[in-house]
Order: sequence, then structure tokens, then C-alpha cells
Amino acid sequence: MAHRLTVVVSQSRSQNPKKRELEEQVVASLLGKHGFDVTVVPNLYDLKSDGTGMLCLSGISGDLVVCSWLFPRAARWILDRNQIRGQEGTTLLNSLGESDESEENQDIEQDNQERVIDHRDLPSRRIYCLDLRAYSDASIYVDEIQRIAEELATPTVELAGWINGKPRPAQMERYLASDSAETALQGPIVIDEDPTRRWYPVIDMSRCTNCLECIDFCLFGVYGIDAQETILVEQPDNCRLGCPACSRVCPENAIIFPQHKTPTIAGSPAIAGSMKIDLSLLFGAPDPGAPGAEKAAEVAARERDEQLLLAGRESVGKEVGMPKHRATIKNVEPPKDELDRLIDSLDELDF
Ligand code: SF4
Ligand code: SF4
Repeated sequence: MAHRLTVVVSQSRSQNPKKRELEEQVVASLLGKHGFDVTVVPNLYDLKSDGTGMLCLSGISGDLVVCSWLFPRAARWILDRNQIRGQEGTTLLNSLGESDESEENQDIEQDNQERVIDHRDLPSRRIYCLDLRAYSDASIYVDEIQRIAEELATPTVELAGWINGKPRPAQMERYLASDSAETALQGPIVIDEDPTRRWYPVIDMSRCTNCLECIDFCLFGVYGIDAQETILVEQPDNCRLGCPACSRVCPENAIIFPQHKTPTIAGSPAIAGSMKIDLSLLFGAPDPGAPGAEKAAEVAARERDEQLLLAGRESVGKEVGMPKHRATIKNVEPPKDELDRLIDSLDELDF
């Protein structure tokens, strides 16, 4: 019995014909091959938990390849927030802006801190996320999906159980049924949902330490905690359109805004860890109390104030919800020109 693999194509928000063409080519190529179930959904980030698209994805229990116009890290944690979980599959493809040489940037700093994911029982199925922005040639994705299918195609326990003997009638019936299904080419499942564009934070639980600083910082009631007292994005649609402020105060760089123009905020594999690397290079002090981190906190407080004023509320500056370690900032004067460049890069936020 060959392994069947579900491939989900998450469409671009825009109607850009080039993007639509790439999506269609990937879908059409897979439909011409055996062993794949293809589902087309609108942009993953926009899907609501109780909408048709997310419910459909929740019903898939086997291995999954998700092709989206998002960084794989963002796609993975959007699914996780919707209880669509599994082991992280490793793709050989790069994501947007990533090169083979940039591999070293992907390493999460090794430390002994516990992460939220350490306390999760993940199902054994694998989830692979591919970034459709990285290549314009559909065959690159199709070849990679085929490689993944081959990687996953190991004999099932049931098949291995009767491989040296005779199958029971029920086993044979199931085997033949799946084989005939496999040879019949099926069309894709297309989810006809028309979600509105959304803006909310996505938490990377492989980095999050559950410090809860984001709850204290956000004054719009976006964050909450679950029954295990673990952070969650409870009211995503309370988030203020365009506000990425809390991503700057998260000490673990675990908060992603998938549609932000700045790659490190949008979930680039060069993660926000690159921020820490930059800061340590600039200031020789990678700890969160370093001056660069303080500047990021100032930017975050300013962004939050802007949103408070837009919502008809009063600004609070750095008085409320600012992480304690940032309040005891060291009084080190950084080189002005380096800092200015850093802040300029932080300010590339307009979208
Ligand atoms: S601030 Fe960051 S690390 Fe702390 S709970 Fe929030 S997402 Fe997790
Ligand atoms: S971006 Fe702003 S409004 Fe949205 S969750 Fe973060 S602090 Fe709250």
C-alpha cells in the first residue's frame, strides 16, 4: 500500500496572476500523479478557527505538506494555534530570502530554558511547510513534494504484519480499497470560503518560554492563558491592524506577524535571533537589558501609544506592562550612528 500524502495549497491574498498561475501549476501537476490528495484553501492566516477551511484542515489526520505564501515558521504556528499539530518535517527547499549559506542563522541558541513545546505531546504525523515565494518554477515544489512522499513511504505496521504470511480477509479488503483509490485520479478539494484579511500575532511555541510579558504589554486584550496557564492568542481580532509592538518586547522573539514587511517579524528563518546577533555585535552585550533592546522597547511603546490614541484612549508610554528587566536598563551609551541605523531598520514597518 503506497503512502498517501495530503498537500494543502494556501492561496495568496492578492489576485496576482503570476501567483495564481504558480498555485494552479502545483495543483495540476500533483493531480496528474498518484498518491496525493490536494486541498486548496484561502490564505491560511485569514482562516478563522470555526470556518470551513480550518475545519477541513483539522479533519486531515495524516502527513501534510502545506504550500503557502508565508514563511514556513509562520505557517506552522498558525496551524498549531488551530490545533493542527504534528512533528516538523524538514524540507530541502529554502524559504524567501534564505540561501544555503544562511543555514547557520537558523540555529536557535542553545540554552537550558524550557519552551512551551517541551510540554506538548505532538502526534507522530509530519507537517512540512513550503514557501511559495521562494521559487517561481512549480516543478521545484512538485519535485520536493514527491521527495517528501518517498521519504514518508514506509510500510505500514499492518502491512508489515502480514508481509511474511497471509493477510486476513479484512486486511486484504482494506489494502485493495486503498490501492484502487490510489489509482483513481481525484480532483482537488477547493474550499470556497471568502475570509476577510486579518492581523494578529502568532506565537512560535518552540521559542516561547511562557514568561507572559506579552500579556502585560498588550493593552488590547489579545493574549490570554489556557487551562494549563500557558500563553495563547485568545482574541486575535482585537489586535490593532499594523501594530507589531509586542513582537519587539518578547524576550524570545517568539511573536510573529506573518504579513509584516520586515522578514524577522514575519517569521523569517533568520529569526528574530538575528536581532540578538546584531545587538551583540553592535554592543557586545546580547542580554535583554542591552541598549539596543531598550531602543526596541521604546519603539514598541511608541507603536502601542499610537494605537491607544487611535482607539481614543490615553497613551501610557513605558509606564505600563514594560518588562521588568527592561526597566532596570544599564546606563551604557551606545555609538550613535550604529544605533540610528538599527532604529532605521526597525522602522521599516510601513505596510
Ligand atoms: S513574551 Fe514571548 S516568550 Fe513570553 S509568553 Fe509572550 S510569546 Fe512567550
Ligand atoms: S501588536 Fe499591539 S495590539 Fe496586537 S497583540 Fe501586540 S501589542 Fe497587542
